[in-house]
Amino acid sequence: MKISKMILGLCLCFTLVMVSCSDDDDDCTKTTWYEDLDGDGLGNASVSQSACEQPAGYVADNTDTNDTGTDTVLDVDQSLFLADGSALTITTVACTLSDGTETTCYQLVTKSNPSDHEMGPWCPDNITNTDVAGGIWLESGEVYDVDGDFIQNMASFYNDSTWKMYDDNGNVFKTETLEDCINAANPNVGAEYENFCVECLPSYVTDLSSTYLIPVTPVKLSTPVSFGMMGPPGMGNNGPTTRGLAFNGVVFDAPAPTDAILGAYTLAPFDDAGGHINTAAGYHYHAATGVSKKVEQADGHASMIGYAMDGYGIYAFLDAGGNEAVDLDNCRGHYDEVRGYHYHVDYAGNNNFINCLSGAYAN
Ligand SMILES: [Zn+2]
Ligand SMILES: [Zn+2]
Repeated sequence: MKISKMILGLCLCFTLVMVSCSDDDDDCTKTTWYEDLDGDGLGNASVSQSACEQPAGYVADNTDTNDTGTDTVLDVDQSLFLADGSALTITTVACTLSDGTETTCYQLVTKSNPSDHEMGPWCPDNITNTDVAGGIWLESGEVYDVDGDFIQNMASFYNDSTWKMYDDNGNVFKTETLEDCINAANPNVGAEYENFCVECLPSYVTDLSSTYLIPVTPVKLSTPVSFGMMGPPGMGNNGPTTRGLAFNGVVFDAPAPTDAILGAYTLAPFDDAGGHINTAAGYHYHAATGVSKKVEQADGHASMIGYAMDGYGIYAFLDAGGNEAVDLDNCRGHYDEVRGYHYHVDYAGNNNFINCLSGAYAN
């Protein structure tokens, strides 16, 4: 009997508390809270409740477009790289990422010698040559064939009569030796190389190799990392300059300094794959033109063309239907459940791949 009375008393108490609580609610200002299943601080706009105090598992933000609680995060697929044990080798090493994460990275040692396509040509020999004899040039968001006509018309193209990159027989002035290449493909190019088409050949850089680390499992950062500028680190200039790697081990590099190249009255064309050579970096890409290995996607999504330095996939500019990706963030990335977070490269004519890294990179 005593126990029954106690329970009755508790029930009455509880009811009274409920009544007094609901009275209090009329005095508070209710806010809309959004469900945050995946705990990323972003809420799902379509699942909400109104309450005075923040309910557990709910946040004020309502911008999460994928709040299923199971974000797809894909590891780097090592088998996609064209590692042949010579031009490109891959090993697994312990590494520390830019956010302090201790993890495992793929270490890629590359000779920047693509096994899936030829390099060059870059400069045509004569102004009568067709586009087969030359590469491409990127100007104001457009891709131009560097054929004989392009060389012949440079003075009018750039509205500057200083341009005349050919002799009276129509032969194009171009770098012919390693020494020419070193002298003409640098920021302090001398006046003697004015009106030279700069073409550094694969035979000049056969001894070169570069090592890159990519985290096996990407780690998303709350704030993206800017790419470093060319030059010494420091002054907020700490991110990598390399955007990523194609499957053939060739780097997707920072934008080519086309203003400096043109300012010296030189032209340093890219081949049809968007790459060219300098003696410090070897062969490297400045544009994705669809020539290197690509992995087509079963659902018609743009093909995959490589990995960014944070381990997220890099995909082509256009999908199988010829459409650009929508909803890209400032880095040119977005999320879908098949591929996880990934990037889409910029249009080739923009001399650009992606704008920043959304994930941590290996130090
Ligand atoms: Zn370059
Ligand atoms: Zn996409």
